[in-house]
Amino acid sequence: MAQDIILSANGLTKEFKGFLAVNDVDLKVERGSIHALIGPNGAGKTTCFNLLTKFLQPSRGTIVYNDRDITRKQPADIARLGMVRSFQISAVFPHLTAIENVRIALQRNRGDSFDFWRSERVLTEFNGRAAGLLDDVGLSEFAAVRAGELSYGRKRALEIATTLALEPEMLLLDEPMAGMAQEDVERISQLIRRISANRTILMVEHNLSVVAALSDYITVLARGKVLAEGDYASVSKDPRVVEAYIGA
Ligand code: ADP
Repeated sequence: MAQDIILSANGLTKEFKGFLAVNDVDLKVERGSIHALIGPNGAGKTTCFNLLTKFLQPSRGTIVYNDRDITRKQPADIARLGMVRSFQISAVFPHLTAIENVRIALQRNRGDSFDFWRSERVLTEFNGRAAGLLDDVGLSEFAAVRAGELSYGRKRALEIATTLALEPEMLLLDEPMAGMAQEDVERISQLIRRISANRTILMVEHNLSVVAALSDYITVLARGKVLAEGDYASVSKDPRVVEAYIGA
């Protein structure tokens, strides 16, 4: 059966003053999959991520999302098309409670007019949806806690809830486990698996056991190029990958 590709990049290249941070990268992300972008420090992962979400303009190459060429689009256009990057809206407001943070994200998704707050029906609907999203990320019991008082892992879970409020079809997660205690790593792993049930996820992640446990497909970058790709079992055995990690 033909692959159902949601996001692809062809010949993606980013040059910084003659230095090729991303060099002719081809990438295909299958719809519904969890796809990880890994590689040693300086491999070009962050640059690649910034190119795909249009925070950077590629020097060369094309990016296609849902059969639409998005190479020249702005980050906000991309979000409207259903591809949302976690930190894009992840600035949680520390003095507002968890549920207030999610309500604001829902409101954002609704547009710029605040008029709908006058409607009790809408308010009730928003409260219900906000509670549902908090439940999805395992934060129900923290609904009334100020975001700034949540543990680091729970703050990340709240960020994911505010991201989900935008109803993304594809979620890009930039090092979701960075700085997390083991207990939180397990909680967020389960959360990512759960939310991937009806979404596509592309993540940059350093924690290789998380990558092994979650990813359907992995692209390994090194020195701006695709070094290997495939499932974890195959890429982790690839001598070029082993060497890139050891030699890094
Ligand atoms: P990774 O995320 O895999 O660690 P990066 O994408 O951050 O790698 O960086 C890849 C390479 O590109 C590095 O050598 C980095 O120094 C360089 N680089 C990244 N951004 C810039 C920039 N704005 N200007 C110049 N060089 C950059």
